[in-house]
Amino acid sequence: MTTDNADIARKPALQKPLAVMLFGAPGSGKGTTGKMLTKLTGWPHLATGDLLREQITRKTSLGLEMQSILAAGQLAPDDLVSRMVGDRLGWSDCEAGFLLDGFPRTIPQAEGLAQWFSGRNFRPVLIHLWVEYNEILRRLTGRRTCSNCGAIYHLESTPSQVPDVCDNDGAALTVRADDKEEVVLQRLQTYQTQTWPVAETLRKNGILVEAIECGEMDPESVADRIRWRLDRIGGSIAKKNKPE
Ligand code: ADP
Repeated sequence: MTTDNADIARKPALQKPLAVMLFGAPGSGKGTTGKMLTKLTGWPHLATGDLLREQITRKTSLGLEMQSILAAGQLAPDDLVSRMVGDRLGWSDCEAGFLLDGFPRTIPQAEGLAQWFSGRNFRPVLIHLWVEYNEILRRLTGRRTCSNCGAIYHLESTPSQVPDVCDNDGAALTVRADDKEEVVLQRLQTYQTQTWPVAETLRKNGILVEAIECGEMDPESVADRIRWRLDRIGGSIAKKNKPE
């Protein structure tokens, strides 16, 4: 085999598609960053919170069951969320790489996902978005979300041009039911007790964990920093399947 052929043969192993898990406290910017990275990479952005809220909006039986759980700042059952994610990861648009946002969020979810990865040709990376506690509170209580397209605004740092109206589509901006102050505190507690240990569980399963301190950074800089880290890791995120 010539050197060239040997290089080509090695290439698939070196350039496994990346599977990026965006990890961090509520309000750390997983949703905003995920949307930006999707534009950069063309990979699907699979946000379990969005998938669950979609079920609630559509008033499916699952949505009706989940409504009170989300409104109380608690977590949806592991088997249900894991099945929902597992089904979605089977779609062909995930083959070239994907972004998970808000999953895994418990140790059983993390163990299940690590097992899923072990039989597949992905390079999994957990990106931990670190933000200081007071900044998290400020972000969550000022957050507004478009009821139609899901765009995220903040009353002070990224307001819409017209108050309470989305810049993209003119739909009304709403406060997510779980962004009310008492629910925010419950979500942060849930994060501390159930989600925080997930990074360590994945690390022990041989999954790369990268932390980014992003409390002071604007969303574009966070997305750039992640892109740079992913490029360095080796699974290039050049726009292989560039979106329009
Ligand atoms: P945030 O990260 O800001 O809390 P999300 O949109 O990711 O927002 O999640 C909103 C809610 O959806 C969570 O508080 C939880 O009730 C539910 N949820 C999202 N992801 C999961 C998950 N992986 N497991 C269980 N529940 C989840």
